[in-house]
Amino acid sequence: MDLDPSMLRSMIVRGAERIVARADELCALDRAIGDGDHGTNMKRGLEAVLAKTDDIVALPTGEALSAIGRTLVMTVGGASGPLYGSFFLAAGAAMARGGRLPEDLVEVVAAGVEAVGARGRSTAGEKTMLDVLIPVLDALRAEAGRPDLAGQIKAKARESTERTAPMLATKGRAAYLGPRSVGHIDPGARSSCMLVEAVCDIVEERQ
Ligand code: ADP
Ligand code: MG
Repeated sequence: MDLDPSMLRSMIVRGAERIVARADELCALDRAIGDGDHGTNMKRGLEAVLAKTDDIVALPTGEALSAIGRTLVMTVGGASGPLYGSFFLAAGAAMARGGRLPEDLVEVVAAGVEAVGARGRSTAGEKTMLDVLIPVLDALRAEAGRPDLAGQIKAKARESTERTAPMLATKGRAAYLGPRSVGHIDPGARSSCMLVEAVCDIVEERQ
C-alpha cells in the first residue's frame, strides 16, 4: 500500500521547514567538531526536495523515496549527502520490492539504516547520524503497534541525540579531533533527530 500523498507531502514540507529553520543550529554544532557546513548542506538539499514536492508526491511511495534520495545525493554534498541519499534510495528500493506501509515500516527503515552503515562503513557508537537512526529503528521494532508510537520514537530520537555528546568520534571529520570531539553533540545526529521528529509530528497530527 502506498502512503497517502497528502501525508507524504506534509512530511516533506515539515521536514524541510524544520531543517531550513534550524540550519544555523546544525552549522554551529558542525563548527565545534567539523567544518561548520552541515546546516548549509542540509538546507540546500531539503530546499531542492521541497521544490520537487509536487512531482515526488505523484509517484508511488517507493519511487518517491528514491527520488528524494537522488535529490539529496545531488544537492547536499559533504559526507552527509551520500549517506542521507543512501538511506532514501535503499528505503525506496525496499518499498519497490513489494514493501507495504504501515505493515513493512520496520523493514523499509531497516534497509535505509543498513545502507547508511554500508556506505559510511560505520556502526552504532561512533558519534554519527547512526547513533540516532539505529536507536530509532530499534524502538520501532520494540514499540510497534503502541498507540503512542510516534511520541515514543520522538523521545528516543532526542535522547539518542544527547547521548552522542560524551561519545568519541571515530568516523567523519570529527574523528580527526580524537578526544576533543568528546562533549559535543554530533550535527548529523541532530539533523536526523529533526527529520524523525517532523515525520512523527505529522503522524501524531493525523491520528
Ligand atoms: P562533512 O563532514 O563532509 O562536512 P556534513 O557536515 O554535511 O559533511 O555532515 C557531517 C555529519 O555526517 C556528521 O555529523 C555525521 O553525523 C555524518 N557522518 C560523517 N561520516 C559518517 C559516516 N562514516 N557514517 C555515518 N555518518 C557519518
Ligand atoms: Mg561539515
